Amino acid sequence: MTQFAAQTSKHPLLSGGAARLTIDLTALRSNWCYLNGKVGNDVACAVVLKANGYGTGAGEVGKALYAAGARVFFVALPEEGIALRKVLPHAEIFVLNGLFREREKLYYDFELKPVLSSLEEIEEWSLFAQSLDEDLPAALHFDTGMHRLGMALNDAVELGQSPHFLKGIRVELVMSHLACADTPKHELNQKQLNRFQRLCELFPNARRSLSNSAGIFLGSDYHFDLVRPGIALYGGNPVPEQTNPMLPVAHVQAEIISLRQVPHGASVGYGASRVTPRKSRIATINAGYADGLHRLVGSSDDQPNGGRVYIGGHFAPIFGRVSMDMLAVDVTDIPEEHLSRGAPVEIMGAHVNVDELANFAQTIPYELLCSLGARYTRHYKR
Ligand SMILES: *Cc1c(COP(=O)(O)O)cnc(C)c1O
Repeated sequence: MTQFAAQTSKHPLLSGGAARLTIDLTALRSNWCYLNGKVGNDVACAVVLKANGYGTGAGEVGKALYAAGARVFFVALPEEGIALRKVLPHAEIFVLNGLFREREKLYYDFELKPVLSSLEEIEEWSLFAQSLDEDLPAALHFDTGMHRLGMALNDAVELGQSPHFLKGIRVELVMSHLACADTPKHELNQKQLNRFQRLCELFPNARRSLSNSAGIFLGSDYHFDLVRPGIALYGGNPVPEQTNPMLPVAHVQAEIISLRQVPHGASVGYGASRVTPRKSRIATINAGYADGLHRLVGSSDDQPNGGRVYIGGHFAPIFGRVSMDMLAVDVTDIPEEHLSRGAPVEIMGAHVNVDELANFAQTIPYELLCSLGARYTRHYKR
């Protein structure tokens, strides 16, 4: 026991064997500042940190971006809002998924503003406000074409004509969400923009918000009073057809736990799905699908183009199937000096970016980040 304690203090950065997930809060802040600068002084740049800040840690992200100047935060669930409220006592917190049935008091107690998405939710929040004899804040969400959440345009007209529906509710924000912002040429963008402009006229005193990360890059017409970026803050590319202007935030570093020579024609890993085309050097790394590295990033003889990792300035392809706790890489072409037990391996970060890894996993960076798993030793770089 004492021996182990002595060892860990000598190597304070060594984990107990789990791969490291480092969240670069400096890069995160730069990303927020970049978007905030892009929308200009008259537009607020909010922060979307639902699902634990896209897997990166909502509390740490919230604190870092509040310190950078962000004041408005969006979560999906009231529970997430309660957790955030504990670290950000003065922030404005909206709950995107709306008012959950019979949870009004939770929102009230933790000063969470529901994003009301139906006349039913409006009625419930209004009756609650009246029961307290107070005016309570809320956002109104309108559906301009995505058909997921939000009220129809008819509802907007009805609310505009019959203000009693909103008795006790202070409408602080009117919002909608773009379905295709990451496809700038998609005709739905302009349609949603036009519909949103029209319905905003019915609520002249509320702030207006339409854009997520990708929407910010559609131009200033899409900015209104407040933008709601998520993925771009965490380093995902908001303009998929162009070079990513955002800095990487989530870095996964694993290490080599085993090295071996494998003869030509030998199989590696489960299912013997990949056979060496030459005499090969194979390194086994301590991260697998339990750490969110989806099996699709592996390779087989039928699908030889899998993902890659970065070791000592060189890329090495993932060789064979990804296991739960490990994966194998072909390091035959990597100079010997980088190959040793304990040598660091970048799984995701500055060289293997989150978009690339997501591509190999046939998913999007959002899902990849959200599924990184709980096993990592986490570090927040300030
Ligand atoms: C998730 C979400 C966002 C953020 O979207 P990104 O594409 O991650 O920038 C913004 N608005 C709403 C309503 C959302 O659900």
